[in-house]
Parts: sequence; C-alpha cells; structure tokens
Amino acid sequence: MTQQATGVSHGGSAPARRDGSAPTRVGIMGGTFDPIHHGHLVAASEVAHLFGLDEVVFVPTGHPWQKDLDKVTPSEDRYLMTVIATAENPQFRVDRIEIDRSGPTYTLDTLRQMRAAYGPDVELFFITGADALGAILSWHNVDELFDLAHFVGCNRPGHHLSDTGLPEGKVSLVEVPALAISSTECRERVRKGEPIWYLVPDGIVRYIHKTGLYLEP
Ligand code: ATP
Ligand code: MG
Repeated sequence: MTQQATGVSHGGSAPARRDGSAPTRVGIMGGTFDPIHHGHLVAASEVAHLFGLDEVVFVPTGHPWQKDLDKVTPSEDRYLMTVIATAENPQFRVDRIEIDRSGPTYTLDTLRQMRAAYGPDVELFFITGADALGAILSWHNVDELFDLAHFVGCNRPGHHLSDTGLPEGKVSLVEVPALAISSTECRERVRKGEPIWYLVPDGIVRYIHKTGLYLEP
C-alpha cells in the first residue's frame, strides 16, 4: 500500500498528492488528540477553507512536555484514532513525526522538520485553538516559530484571545464554528458511562469502546 493510499506518512516526509502535484499551502494541526473530536476536525476544515490550503497534516504529540505522561493515552492509540477520524477526507493526513521522535515533544522541532521536508517554497500554517496559541505566545523561542510557519488561532468556547500585542503579519485570528467539545470532557464522559456519540466521529466511539480506553480515571 502506498503512502498516498493510506493518507499516512512517516517522519515528516512531504508526499506528493494523488494527482502527482506537490502541495504549496499546508496546514499543520498539532494536538494530543486524546481523543480527537469534532472541535479539532471543524477547526482544521474551516482553516483549510479560509486559507485555501491544499492539505492539513494532523500531528499527534509524542510526549507532550506540558502534560503528565502517566495520564496521557499511549501514542499508538492516539495516532490510530487520528487516522480513523481523518481517513475519509482526502485533504487530511496524519504524520508520525512526533510520536516516532524520542524524548519530549517540542513544536519547534516539528516545524523545523516539516520545513526541511517541504522545502522553502511551501507555505506552512500552524493551526491552534485560542488556548494553545496563548501558551505558545509565551514561549521564549517564539520568533523562530513564526519564521517557520504562519500561525492561525481559532476561537474556542471558553478561551478568548485578543489581537492586541500579536506580532504583525505572523498570526491570524479566525472564527470557526464554535463547538464546546474538549478531549478532557470526552474522557470524563466515557469514564462516567455517558455517551460521546456526535462529539467525536462514529469510528472513534467504536474504537474507544472496543479498546476500553478512558474507563479508568
Ligand atoms: P485536552 O482537554 O486533553 O487538553 P483538547 O480538547 O484541548 O484536549 P488538544 O489535543 O489539547 O485537545 O488540542 C489540540 C489543538 O486543537 C489545540 O490547538 C486546541 O486549542 C485545539 N482545539 C481543541 N478543541 C477545540 C475546539 N473545540 N475548538 C477549536 N479548537 C480546539
Ligand atoms: Mg488541550
């Protein structure tokens, strides 16, 4: 099976698209995806539309340095759920770049690798929710991040970001259809025996039930 056929690629490579052409505008959606939910998918789809992106690459984190490792689901489960959730959309693909890298995950390493894989002429758009963008803006190496990609911050219910003080031309704030869904809430609902149908894609509900994920606190 070819990489194009699965929509999956390994190690930050930049695969040619089905029609053989190379993408020129590429979105990167990083996340823990524990589990992936419709808030992530709507944000990616809307940003792809607004910015005329050729593709959006979902990058599940390896060992998020901000999160307690014991509490994060094994990366292989998060990766598989991301593949299942994006499989139907020919514009979406999933990259193992972060889960195959050892040590803590840093977005800067990922963007450097993506930039090297795609070359200097491809425009990269790093897609985040308002909460994640707020955190990124406080990093010390933020200037290099902004040189590697254009950052797109999406509104998210409960998280607000104002455009005052944002670096000129480096960050866009966009309105996406607001879905008040979080992975934390999905995990809690599973643990309490509450439904997560329609908060996440059907295949994710089934994967979670099949594997017994999130039953333990
Ligand atoms: P958790 O509750 O475990 O932190 P999460 O729902 O915040 O999970 P993440 O994997 O942490 O999901 O988020 C990945 C990216 O998607 C982040 O940039 C985050 O801001 C964004 N995001 C998550 N949920 C939404 C949503 N409902 N609407 C818009 N953006 C979202
Ligand atoms: Mg989060």
